[in-house]
Amino acid sequence: MFIEPSIGRQKSSGNRGQIEVICGSMFSGKTEELIRRLNRAKIAKQKVEIFKPSIDKRYDENAVVSHNDNSIRSTPVNFANDILLLSGDCDVVGIDEVQFFDEQIVPVAQKLANQGKRVILAGLDMDFEGNPFDPMPKLMAIAEYVTKVNAICMKCGDLAAFSFRLSDAKEKVVLGEKESYEARCRKCFNEDKK
Ligand SMILES: [Zn+2]
Repeated sequence: MFIEPSIGRQKSSGNRGQIEVICGSMFSGKTEELIRRLNRAKIAKQKVEIFKPSIDKRYDENAVVSHNDNSIRSTPVNFANDILLLSGDCDVVGIDEVQFFDEQIVPVAQKLANQGKRVILAGLDMDFEGNPFDPMPKLMAIAEYVTKVNAICMKCGDLAAFSFRLSDAKEKVVLGEKESYEARCRKCFNEDKK
C-alpha cells in the first residue's frame, strides 16, 4: 500500500512537487489506486485536477471511471500540453490512461512537478505484445515513486502482469474491456501468443 510521504507537509513547508507512476496490466486496479490517492488528497484539503486523453471514450466523457464504478470527475484533453494550460493553481494533478498521450507528456509532467505540484500518472506499462508502452518507460524513469500493480491471471489464477488480446487485431491501440482482453501471467501469456 502506497503511503503518501509528503501529504501532511505539503502546506507547511511550501509545495514540493513530485511525480508518482502507477503502472500495470489491464484489470490490475491502476485507476482504482489513482482514485484512492486523489480522494485522500481531497481529504487533506488539496486542490485536485484530473485529466485523461480524449481517445479513451469507453465510459462517461467527463469521468475517470474505473471498472468497479468508483469514479471521479475528469477533463478529457487532446494533447499533453493542454494539461499545462488547464491545471492552474491546483496542488495535485492526476492523469489516467497516460500511455495514450503524446511524448510531450514527459516534459509536461516535469514542468508540473517543478512548479511544486504532485503529479500522479496511471497507465499501462506494456502493450498487447508485452513490449514497453511509450511513453511509460520515460515517465517511470523521471518519477520519484513507481508502483506496479498486478492483476490475476484469468487462465490460471497466478499474479498477472500482461494484457492478452483475445482478438487478432494488430493495431497497438484497440480500446475495449472484458470482451477484448485478459490479464495473464507470463506463462499463460506466452502459451497463447499469436
Ligand atoms: Zn496464468
